[in-house]
Amino acid sequence: LMDWDNKKVLAKGIVERVTIGNSFIKHEATGKEEITINHDCPHHTDAIQLILNTLTDPKIGVIKDMSSIKAVGHRTVHAGEKFAQSVLIDEKVIKALEECSHLAPLHNPPNLAGIKAAMAALPGIPNVAVFDTAFHQTMPKHAYIYPIPYEYYEEMAMRRYGFHGTSHLYVSKRAAIMLGKKPNEVNVITLHIGNGVSHCAVQKGISVDTSMGLTPLEGAVMGTRCGDIDPYIPIFLMKNKNLTADQVDTILNKKSGVLGITKKFTDRRDIQKAAESGDELCKLAEDIEAYRIKKYIGAYAAAMGGVDAVVFTAGVGENSSRIREKALEGLEFLGIKLDKEANKIRGKENEITTKDSRVKVFVIPTNEELVIIEDTVAILEGKYKKHTEYLYSFQK
Ligand code: ADP
Repeated sequence: LMDWDNKKVLAKGIVERVTIGNSFIKHEATGKEEITINHDCPHHTDAIQLILNTLTDPKIGVIKDMSSIKAVGHRTVHAGEKFAQSVLIDEKVIKALEECSHLAPLHNPPNLAGIKAAMAALPGIPNVAVFDTAFHQTMPKHAYIYPIPYEYYEEMAMRRYGFHGTSHLYVSKRAAIMLGKKPNEVNVITLHIGNGVSHCAVQKGISVDTSMGLTPLEGAVMGTRCGDIDPYIPIFLMKNKNLTADQVDTILNKKSGVLGITKKFTDRRDIQKAAESGDELCKLAEDIEAYRIKKYIGAYAAAMGGVDAVVFTAGVGENSSRIREKALEGLEFLGIKLDKEANKIRGKENEITTKDSRVKVFVIPTNEELVIIEDTVAILEGKYKKHTEYLYSFQK
């Protein structure tokens, strides 16, 4: 919740385990300790109500009543090819999201439930959709068409979309500012490395390629997702292990990535600790993850014909100096010279290359919520232009 006039975050929070039991809200009023309240939320409507009740609670809340909430921004995942930018939500937008549900069966239905719940709880208040796929709608066709029969694209919109768009947008623009340039003057490779991982080639301010595809399964090694593998592997598993499509889905989405390699950990902190005490599979998981990040840096530098900055963001990117160092090792030929002392930084904006490094590497904490709020305000004020520089956080 942000007080836009004073550019002040009033509170941050999250409701977890909605619909699956033992749900709770984490709530942090600015300047106060984060608190956790257990509260069952069998439906998304309950979660939205819980958020509103917490924000207006006389003891722990930050506003007197709901009348001071003027708009709601929603992070929406999949818009297919229908939206290349954020939009004010109306019946047409809801219908479009419903029509894209086959592309994001895990994300779009709960997104819609959240939107409908917010509309019911705050009648008359505008709601804005900020799509995770929108930033990548600028990719050229040669980057998003799969080399499979073309009719699947024509019939079912099967193509590469990419995700984490608000994060790639935010950190690439911050990187331009840290370089002292405008976003349209620089090429930036952004590495969003959390549980989900995606990389993006941002050429002169726009996304020209990204590592996730039709679904978030493609690309980098993730916490539990496999990323790039031989596409025959699912077929091989089905034929040789007698598995169903759903079982293979679970294996590749939930049991692979660093969890699959280490057999036990998704959290890179656990992996690092075990690797340091000699666990071979944990060492291997780190080597694979870092090696594949390095390959994407090389690929995207080539795709853009050069790079000015590389950005590490999200849980692992912001905190793990070890993964950053391993991924950048040997990239001196590309003009990257790591400053090992500066690379010790965690969770703060910082340059981690030496003064004479031709390509700069930055750690930039992502801020997807800010992009959502800024897009929402800009749409309501009639100032919204696709990925423009009006965003106040990008003016410095
Ligand atoms: P999500 O994709 O779920 O939004 P986050 O961006 O929050 O993920 O990243 C979560 C991951 O960040 C954790 O699983 C953990 O592996 C990693 N992480 C957090 N802190 C550290 C740290 N100090 N060192 C290494 N990894 C970390």
